[in-house]
Amino acid sequence: MKLKFYGTRGSIPVCDAGFQQFGGNTTCLQITDTNQIAIIDAGTGLRNLGRDLLAIGHKQEQIRIAFTHFHWDHIQGFPFFAPAYDPKQKITLLTLGRDQTISNLREIFEVQMQAEYFPVQLDHMGANFEFLQIADATEHFTGINNVETIVTAQRHNHPGGAYSFRIERNGRVLVVCIDVEHGEQIDPRLVKLARGADLLVHDAQYTAEELQKRRGWGHSSFDQAMQVAEMAGVKRLALTHHDPDHDDEFLERIEKLCQERFPNAVLAREGMEISIGEAT
Ligand SMILES: [Zn+2]
Ligand SMILES: [Zn+2]
Repeated sequence: MKLKFYGTRGSIPVCDAGFQQFGGNTTCLQITDTNQIAIIDAGTGLRNLGRDLLAIGHKQEQIRIAFTHFHWDHIQGFPFFAPAYDPKQKITLLTLGRDQTISNLREIFEVQMQAEYFPVQLDHMGANFEFLQIADATEHFTGINNVETIVTAQRHNHPGGAYSFRIERNGRVLVVCIDVEHGEQIDPRLVKLARGADLLVHDAQYTAEELQKRRGWGHSSFDQAMQVAEMAGVKRLALTHHDPDHDDEFLERIEKLCQERFPNAVLAREGMEISIGEAT
């Protein structure tokens, strides 16, 4: 498995100079395995992802985009995803996990693209869309490329709800946990979900001080992300969902501090690829 960050920014895209080393596009992750890709979230980074797929002539009968939740910074790139305008392309938009509160997944994208907000409506994009809401994620993914894949999705604390994902494939484990607010204690269910991961991708929008003033906004501090990594015994940690007010200089400084405590920590940069290895 290989992970590529197409969007690392939280809340809103940033185009200002001084922010481009870590990247201005909002959340979008690409997971690649044996030439098959899966996507998590459709923030503005999805636009470049789609352009890259076209540029390299990537062919895949069905492209899956799984959503952690539907806040703007996780869906805003969807209307600009070039493969969605290809009538030969099948695209599955899906939610995973129990206790989902969304009742109509298609409607979320229909509303996002209704005429008051966008010139092209969902039905006119062209691709063949499928909308899936799955409680038990495991069953759905086993069998892609004939490799057993165990996907566990777990709801966590975030305004309106959001889901973390644990993906186990070829003996390697990737855990993605973004847009999460822990509360007074680190959420023990998340520690359990992240247990022994080869790579944990965790929300780190705030410093500990900022978090004090942003209670209820749904995010974590750098320290909390490292605490989860330590408690869960993960091998590597990638911090993401950078605050739109945190410029490159600031994030570089934070990254050095984080690495003093957790040497295998890195702050995600747009375009960064992390290999999660092959079976041993
Ligand atoms: Zn977000
Ligand atoms: Zn959110």
